Amino acid sequence: MKGKESAIEDVKAIIKESQNMVFFGGAGVSTASGIPDFRSPNGLYHQKTNRPYPPEYYFSHEFCMDDPDGFADFTRECYQSYQVPPSGAHLQLAKWEKEGKLSAVITQNIDGLHQRAGSRKVYEVHGNMHDIYCPHCGHQVPTKDFMAGKGRYPCPRCGHNVRAAVTLYGEALPQVAFSQAIEAIASCDTFIVGGTSLVVYPAAGLLNYYRGDRMILINREATPADSRADYVLHGDISEILPALAD
Ligand code: NAD
Repeated sequence: MKGKESAIEDVKAIIKESQNMVFFGGAGVSTASGIPDFRSPNGLYHQKTNRPYPPEYYFSHEFCMDDPDGFADFTRECYQSYQVPPSGAHLQLAKWEKEGKLSAVITQNIDGLHQRAGSRKVYEVHGNMHDIYCPHCGHQVPTKDFMAGKGRYPCPRCGHNVRAAVTLYGEALPQVAFSQAIEAIASCDTFIVGGTSLVVYPAAGLLNYYRGDRMILINREATPADSRADYVLHGDISEILPALAD
């Protein structure tokens, strides 16, 4: 029944017969790798830090514009903290792709862990913290060159400050990735959604593009979309996804 906690065996049976699954996830997919999410009780929004501004500010267009040195160093700090092993969830999704059962991963995450786990078709609807480019002339800077620097990094071609290809608060989503995500969701047989509070729009609106009857929602806590899912599993996604493949 929609919205009610499902039996793992029922979901396993669905996964077994699926041939074209799509996964859509968020920060909860990476918490088992040691990267905090935003909204969990121990997430970034609830942590005490000695930073002068709230966490949202550091992921905002405003910060990027107002403090180019601070934003560049914040990018490096995030990038360093993302150099961790993928979780059981990342690894299972990569395995399903390799087996030909999963056609795409759509992620709100900016940490690059799906690619590190071996996933090839990853649509990053909020961009990432490792592709460094010049927003003025489009020149790409090797990640290692930028990460080795300190403060702002002027584009070697035009002199404007380069930045990570991440979608900050106050910025539009990457259109190509978003359109690819919609297309993948609209044509999949089974849609797995997990590790996301589903409160960040427009990404959370992606659920509207699924028209089938196999939407599986996996999250530690209830989400506003539980009542729309055909199957709901509450728990740690890094344990549940591998268990579904057993
Ligand atoms: P969120 O913090 O709003 O919600 C995370 C959700 O995941 C919560 O509902 C929580 O209960 C659940 N969760 C946490 N650990 C889990 C686990 N192991 N198993 C199952 N569920 C788990 O995150 P969001 O919905 O992704 O939206 C916030 C935005 O923050 C996103 O746009 C994302 O780009 C960004 N973000 C990214 C990272 C990252 O790249 N790793 C980290 C923090 C925030």
